[in-house]
Amino acid sequence: MASSVTQDNQAYGMLSDRTRKRMVERLRQAGVQDERVLSAMSEVPRHLFVDQALATRAYDDVSLPIGHAQTISQPLTVAKMTEILLAGRKPGKVLEIGTGCGYQTAVLLKTGAEVYSIERLGALLDKARRNLRAAKLVHARLVHGDGHFGLAEAAPFEGIIMTAAARNIPEALVEQLAEGGRLIMPVGETEQYLWLLEKTAQGLQKTRLDPVKFVPLLPGRN
Ligand code: SAH
Repeated sequence: MASSVTQDNQAYGMLSDRTRKRMVERLRQAGVQDERVLSAMSEVPRHLFVDQALATRAYDDVSLPIGHAQTISQPLTVAKMTEILLAGRKPGKVLEIGTGCGYQTAVLLKTGAEVYSIERLGALLDKARRNLRAAKLVHARLVHGDGHFGLAEAAPFEGIIMTAAARNIPEALVEQLAEGGRLIMPVGETEQYLWLLEKTAQGLQKTRLDPVKFVPLLPGRN
């Protein structure tokens, strides 16, 4: 059983190179310009981050279930959020909230960021750890906790990215942002928008971006 799954994965691995290149071309056509993001997404084997049964859909521009009622964001959303987060700067230290299957974590690592990622569901964090290991990306610090509080012991962060929708922007995250840093996250309930926060010497600058659809940020850990 295990060996046939491995064989299937390897067979799909070969096909996936071409499919992944096409995905990156679509991202480029959709306006993604940061070559670091495009190259990261052309290197990360996205099919290793979704369940076997969904591997053939891994490169479609759709969000997919990853178990525990959670979803992996569609490639264009991952690309755009990463591009906005980096804003052409050196990535530096980045905090991700909502590790999920670890795909966004992998993309951040490939851009050269030093990544800390918090997930509230222990079972998903274990899955992310296995997926990242399969993709040979082992240097993210994965934390089992509630992202509402950020990660004070590793602050300040040049970037903070949240992949679950909060009702408000948590105060702890604003505090843990370095000066010159950027925070990008979805805010809202039935109606959600991406928000960008920039911390400058003059103060905080908040910008509302596109409407989006993310799973909710939930309290506590499990
Ligand atoms: N970036 C992920 C997307 C996962 S979906 C990926 O690439 O797969 C959002 C994730 O946020 C879910 O795994 C969910 O369990 C997690 N989440 C929700 N509330 C959270 C909280 N308070 N702290 C940390 N993670 C949280």
